[in-house]
Amino acid sequence: MKILVLNCGSSSLKYQLIDMDNEEVLAKGLCERIGIAGSKLTHKAEGKDDYSLETDMPDHSVAVKLVFDALTDEKHGVVNSVDEIGAVGHRVLHGGTKFTESIVVNDEVKKVIRECFDLGPLHNPANLMGIEACEKVVPGKKNVAVFDTTFGMSLPEKAYFYAIPTEYYEKYGIRRYGFHGTSHTFVSHETIKFGGLDPEKAKVIVCHLGNGASISASIGGKGVDTSMGLTPLEGLIMGTRSGDIDPAAVQFIANHENKSVDDVLNILNKKSGILGMSGVSSDFRDVEKAAQEGNHMAEVALQAFRYRVAKYIGAYAAAMNGVDAIAFTAGVGENDIKARKLIVEEYLGYLGAKIDDERNNVRGKEALISADDSKVKIYLIPTNEELAIARDTLRLI
Ligand code: AMP
Repeated sequence: MKILVLNCGSSSLKYQLIDMDNEEVLAKGLCERIGIAGSKLTHKAEGKDDYSLETDMPDHSVAVKLVFDALTDEKHGVVNSVDEIGAVGHRVLHGGTKFTESIVVNDEVKKVIRECFDLGPLHNPANLMGIEACEKVVPGKKNVAVFDTTFGMSLPEKAYFYAIPTEYYEKYGIRRYGFHGTSHTFVSHETIKFGGLDPEKAKVIVCHLGNGASISASIGGKGVDTSMGLTPLEGLIMGTRSGDIDPAAVQFIANHENKSVDDVLNILNKKSGILGMSGVSSDFRDVEKAAQEGNHMAEVALQAFRYRVAKYIGAYAAAMNGVDAIAFTAGVGENDIKARKLIVEEYLGYLGAKIDDERNNVRGKEALISADDSKVKIYLIPTNEELAIARDTLRLI
């Protein structure tokens, strides 16, 4: 069975076609600038020449049609007809509190995705457009919604309630939801599998460190806490996001700079994090280079990033009354050998955690990176959100 995975943004659409018999990616690609002049499709298929097409894509339906055309094309395609594609799995940002699991899309599911526009204003409308485009272009094909928020649905009340008047939860659903949920679920399960840990009881902390960064605690793969909150702004220091901050700073900046709350939140989302601190870049490689060249605030930004990760690991080890394994994943977690080493060596000695330099000299593949006498196992576990979505889709259809 082949499953198509779609990740729709407001003006973009990423896709992968996965053969679930061996979980291999048969083709993947990207539609950019949907609804904007200069739209382009880029398509790569196993054993075929790369293909790109510049043509008008006024909406997501046109983009989805072009994706199916590319997949079935005689020259660049990988299937003879759309009938070979069993179903489409869609990444959906926000499922509110209604969905504790991925689900086959029907009218009721679409209604809930629409009701969550308020909570995911940048993503949910685009995610729904992708689903409706598939309904139009390949009618009858099953669509499955895989939500980024379902990992957070197993959190206990003490972890997801904010200490604000309860009426705001009741009226607007203001609570911790957490994001990167597909990644946290996938990596925590892979860690248990790869490490041969107890599938029911293993206490695992997953550090998803990429341009967006979050950290989670889970027991037996079930989420007990996660660092992102109502929105992806809370928690760790990220490429451009501030992470945790005293909300009074928002009022202070707004008053002194004559800005609205929306303006300041835009700054906290897009101009803060290691970009805002260093003034150099949101890309960790650039900031590391600047730090090596003596840029003081670039060095402070990297130190603060590691310090915040370590504080969350400490908090989650306490929340679970122990930790069996820590897994690093995503762009920085999978590739930044030095960041992994420093987080463990600078801060995690009290847990008895020890890195093994030789084992840690690895990028982008599953590996144990802790020393034999480390009291906590430390792993590199590459995330694969598309595969996680495809597995859920296959299971549900
Ligand atoms: P992601 O959002 O998961 O794609 O991660 C993107 C981030 O990973 C960027 O900030 C990159 O700088 C960072 N990254 C990728 N490769 C490396 C590397 N070799 N060393 C440090 N950071 C890296």
